[in-house]
Amino acid sequence: MTLDRYVRQMRYPPLGEEGQRRLSESSALIVGCGALGSVLAETLARAGVGKLRIVDRDFLELNNLQRQVLYDEADVAAGLPKAIAAAEKLRRINSEIEIEPLVADVEPGNIQSLCDGVDVICDGTDNFETRFLLNDAALKWNIPWVYGGCIGAEGQTLTILPGETPCLRCLMQEAPPPGTTPTCDTAGILGPIVNIIASLQACEAAQDPQRQSRRREPHADGRRTVG
Ligand SMILES: [Zn+2]
Repeated sequence: MTLDRYVRQMRYPPLGEEGQRRLSESSALIVGCGALGSVLAETLARAGVGKLRIVDRDFLELNNLQRQVLYDEADVAAGLPKAIAAAEKLRRINSEIEIEPLVADVEPGNIQSLCDGVDVICDGTDNFETRFLLNDAALKWNIPWVYGGCIGAEGQTLTILPGETPCLRCLMQEAPPPGTTPTCDTAGILGPIVNIIASLQACEAAQDPQRQSRRREPHADGRRTVG
């Protein structure tokens, strides 16, 4: 495999050719391929992350196009699942990486197989129930994960390194009950904030293969169960 296409980012000294090779050997799980997931997947694909596993259960709708930048009207007309449409687009962007699309819910029954072999988990979800599932899985299997969330014109992101940083449960004990927090359906969402937050998430996710000194210990608060 040639690294020529990555020459501009390899010229950035903290990455270099060695960092690029690590990226090429790394894999990311992208959970949800809507607005955040579109930007995450495209950015990581262009950067040369070697394998992207993309899971999303939804089919495209016209009102997705305002902010979900991987998709176009033809995808909506074809009635494609987001994961499938995303994979087709990403393969045109970078044919040298592996794309594994999965049309599925993320739930306790499949979280282990979804996390199998991945180096980082990227949050492209829109609900706390799934995020807590990701958090607990990340802690259990010692996988870094990058939380992201947007509403209206605001967003938040947090990188969680098991054993090194606070986790989602350190910030909030448990998922707020469904229906008690605003969603994009109820409060709306502007496109640009999604791109900003997801770009920051992608930057963090792509850094992980470069982090050499990650400790391999259980999380300090002892929560290691999934679901
Ligand atoms: Zn914690």
